[in-house]
Amino acid sequence: MTHLCVPIFVHSREQALRDAILAAENGADLVEYRIDTFTDTGDIYILVQNSPLPCIVTCRSSAEGGHCELSDEERLKIFETPGPDEARYLDLEFETFKRLALSPPGGYGSLILSSHDFKGRPDRLYNLISEMTASPANVVKIVWTARTVRDNLEAFEILLARQKPTIALCMGEAGIISRILAKKFGAFLTFASLSKSAETAPGQISIHDMKRLYRWDALNPATKVFGVVGSPIMHSMSPAIHNAAFEQIGFDGVYVPLLVNEGYESFKAFMESFLAFAPLNLGGLSITIPHKENSLRYLKEKGAAIDPLAESIGALNTIVIDQQLTGFSTDYAAILDSITTKLNITREQLKDYRIAVLGAGGTGRTAVAALAHYGATVVIYNRTHEKAEALAAEFNGQTGKVVAARFEKLCDSCCRIFINTTSVGMHPKAAASPVDGHDVKFTPDTLVFDTIYNPIKTKLLQTAEAAGAPIITGVEMFVRQAAGQFEAWTHKTAPVDLMRKVVEERLGVDAG
Ligand code: NAP
Repeated sequence: MTHLCVPIFVHSREQALRDAILAAENGADLVEYRIDTFTDTGDIYILVQNSPLPCIVTCRSSAEGGHCELSDEERLKIFETPGPDEARYLDLEFETFKRLALSPPGGYGSLILSSHDFKGRPDRLYNLISEMTASPANVVKIVWTARTVRDNLEAFEILLARQKPTIALCMGEAGIISRILAKKFGAFLTFASLSKSAETAPGQISIHDMKRLYRWDALNPATKVFGVVGSPIMHSMSPAIHNAAFEQIGFDGVYVPLLVNEGYESFKAFMESFLAFAPLNLGGLSITIPHKENSLRYLKEKGAAIDPLAESIGALNTIVIDQQLTGFSTDYAAILDSITTKLNITREQLKDYRIAVLGAGGTGRTAVAALAHYGATVVIYNRTHEKAEALAAEFNGQTGKVVAARFEKLCDSCCRIFINTTSVGMHPKAAASPVDGHDVKFTPDTLVFDTIYNPIKTKLLQTAEAAGAPIITGVEMFVRQAAGQFEAWTHKTAPVDLMRKVVEERLGVDAG
């Protein structure tokens, strides 16, 4: 069993006990009392005796990232007070233990010997683990700062090869999966903070997120792993949406954020190492900025099956990892299906429509390629006109007609559908609209689609609604692209209503 442990910085006995009760209520089964700056042995004794959960007591030296300035000898004196109790653990740095040539302190039931590297991976990682395993420690704990997301795989290897109860964690944003997947790999514990602002180490996630967002209770060695690859990544709503959907249909999967630095080489190194690590049971990936083009290039190099439309767009957002690799884009399908569902038409009927696409960036390109593929007439408006012209030239005539027009001409447009793919109107600049200053007359016959999902109802959509025009929000697109991924990975129908609810709830909170 892997413990879910909440670390508590002790400022007073009362506060620590209060926090420990809260930790228990939130589902922790272990607490760690960090007494770095609270060294009253009498109070610590009472705290430990009255702890509502089994506990670890740690007085971390400043040399290993803690706050205690006492000498090693003074620190060790603190631990002489409490009586033995199997439910208690003392955490001591392995270096201190070796330096003082200690025999295990007698005051606590079990000894955790720990090693921390805040700069990166220890040079002698595997030697260190062997030495610690051969020591009198009851539990071995190794923690280092992930240099890249690949460092997590070494933490998992250490856990799989463990000779005694072991904790192996990577700090920082890139190391988050070592915390979430600790249970899958049989760690002694993982740490989770009591709240988002109470982390005791970089990259620690809250117990609420661990339990609710990352499905702690459901995790087991066979759990399939999915994730979103990008940089930055922690703002992504995809873990919330996919994990809630896994939960809903009872699928044994977990979806995690995977921070992979910019550049093709980083992406390739990530893919090679994660695909090769079989115990991970990696089932699929969502790909976001800046790796949508890199993922296409990688899959092409690997000779993987690639959706031809994604290839012509030049980017993909979904990888299925099965007997073979498959890459495709659910973004374009989400754009097409949002429109065709709203108008109750088939994709093929788009050829009867003239559609204005505002923007010529990544999303604009996806929209243009998809709509033109189904024969629509597409007019591209973009702040940088040359980009609109280049995009039009690339896709014009393949199936549909694609032209570029100057933004100033937007008022003359006789388009039936308007799609905003620019970032104008996005939070926090929600007071702007891409049609500001243009005399665009929406009517009940115009369909207006804003791909922006934060805010859900942009100024553009409010203007459209006020004119009686039907609208499509960016949430619709976001949910559809996620549902497409979910179905490709699980072969089950996506719980779309739940996914939409999760996104709307999170935007309600995040959009402020
Ligand atoms: P991108 O590649 O950076 O393209 C940005 C586009 O916005 C370009 O056409 C750019 O014009 C235009 N733009 C930016 N600032 C502008 C301004 N002040 N005035 C006029 N035009 C401006 O970005 P992207 O990845 O395509 O994303 C664009 C939008 O799509 C974002 O708002 C994002 O939220 C949304 N999106 C939604 C979903 C979904 O699932 N709902 C998925 C992906 C993206 P220039 O060429 O002149 O710079």
